[in-house]
Amino acid sequence: MLGLMQDQPLLISSLIEFAERHNGDGEIVSRRVEGDIHRTTWGGIASRARQVANALDGEQLLFSDRIATLAWNGYRHLELYYGVSGSGRVLHTINPRLHPDQIAWIANHAEDQILCFDLSFLPLVQAVHAKCPTIRKWIALCDADKLPADSGVPNLVSYESWIGGQSTAYDWPTFDENSASSMCYTSGTTGNPKAALYSHRSTMLHAYAAALPDVMRLSARDSVLPVVPMFHVNAWGIPYSAALVGCKIVFPGPALDGKSVYELIEAEGVTFAAGVPTVWQMMLGHMQANGLKFSKLNRTVIGGSACPPAMITAFQENYNVEVLHAWGMTEMSPLGTLCTLKNKHLALPPDAQLQIRMKQGRAIFGVDMKIVDGAGKELPWDGKAYGDLLVKGPWIVKEYFKGEGGDPLIRDEQGRGWFPTGDVATIDPEGYLQITDRSKDVIKSGGEWISSIEIENIAVAHPAIAMAACIGVYHPKWDERPIIAVVKKPNAEVTREELLKFYEGKTAKWQIPDDVVFVEAIPIGATGKILKTRLRELLKDYKLPTC
Ligand code: ADP
Repeated sequence: MLGLMQDQPLLISSLIEFAERHNGDGEIVSRRVEGDIHRTTWGGIASRARQVANALDGEQLLFSDRIATLAWNGYRHLELYYGVSGSGRVLHTINPRLHPDQIAWIANHAEDQILCFDLSFLPLVQAVHAKCPTIRKWIALCDADKLPADSGVPNLVSYESWIGGQSTAYDWPTFDENSASSMCYTSGTTGNPKAALYSHRSTMLHAYAAALPDVMRLSARDSVLPVVPMFHVNAWGIPYSAALVGCKIVFPGPALDGKSVYELIEAEGVTFAAGVPTVWQMMLGHMQANGLKFSKLNRTVIGGSACPPAMITAFQENYNVEVLHAWGMTEMSPLGTLCTLKNKHLALPPDAQLQIRMKQGRAIFGVDMKIVDGAGKELPWDGKAYGDLLVKGPWIVKEYFKGEGGDPLIRDEQGRGWFPTGDVATIDPEGYLQITDRSKDVIKSGGEWISSIEIENIAVAHPAIAMAACIGVYHPKWDERPIIAVVKKPNAEVTREELLKFYEGKTAKWQIPDDVVFVEAIPIGATGKILKTRLRELLKDYKLPTC
């Protein structure tokens, strides 16, 4: 017997319809590429998303055709999120920090039909347009009078003229909720990039889950600043969850330096912000140097790479901001776990709470996880056993776009498919996940594993260290030994010996790095994470002093 409830597919268009009807005057504030601040509302976004849909309908596109963006976080990008997916096309957000050849490769692989870009990416478009035969129209996200005259880019139009003459009325089509809605290529540190192809259903379920009290705790009373880019896993789903609750969104545009981000937080009464640790590193540095405080910010979700405990403490103790440590990946839409305390933890002293908060957190309902040993046998949740982390759930990929890389799933005895995350982790009896490392970054020393994350966390807890990256280097006896590359804070001093001494008592003796390498900068990849592959290349001639 089937249930007798209405059969209504979960479609992204329903989010923007809801936001307009119930929170139509909710503010959307954007710092633009031009540098000024632009203000609109959920009602304004909804109206222009319908113009986008009408403009797309005039382009002889097929259902599921890909529309690409090379754009910062801003209101026009949000209109495309809804106009493109809502009308049945697939929004392909491209990471502009990738190399032009990679961008061209991705656009060709996705068979993008139209590409919309912020004017700051015009040089990139000029570099790639001739290599992207499937793209028949290039749309600059600007007013008609800002369109460059001699760009050399064929079929270039301004976004405002493209949607300007379109009707603001549009009936969002109804279709299968499993239809593709958007796509995002993984950075492809090994091999060619592969795309996660999200569906309306997966996006909607993720949007509900992300807003929950033990996840991002979003409400209509929030003012939300996604520093995490809309070109990287849909800004962790915030553009969708924000519409669901009707909160204010504040988009930082291209200005991601500490000063600009801080000023926007204060000017727009931001209560909740989201980003990777490197962004917050810059902001905390700026605040510390200038003796600044927050007036309304009360929590921030930090993920994408491990959040050092020193950062959690700095936010909490100096600024009274709760850090929600999160873990996820492109293939997971991206949220997997988020770290919030349980009721029984509230009475614990701050130090014991920090021990919990530095973990990546508990699984969000909808995500099933387990750790397994090399033979695929499930390991206990005792907080000690570490193994390969596998996940499954309705917003986790079952296959990459065009079947690239074959079947990625690992079947269990019941035939259920689990996605191997490539991470090594422990899970404690309370269900808190702790990422030990990416399996390719873990340091294998004398048959034991050393977590590069743990070694880095200790280094950045030293007052003179701004940034640290730990890699393994060849050792004739131990196979690999850890070394730590560090960037000092401006005007701060620390010697190799002092830093190595700082490790004593904080980790097992054999896990203390063999050497410290002082560097001017640590290479950062397209998604704001430390690029260990590049660091290994840079240090390829390095020899251990202990050999
Ligand atoms: P890529 O970096 O390959 O583009 P993602 O951006 O999807 O892919 O990154 C996913 C990976 O980032 C995870 O598998 C994990 O290794 C790492 N990661 C994400 N969040 C955290 C976190 N809070 N702590 C440690 N590692 C994290």
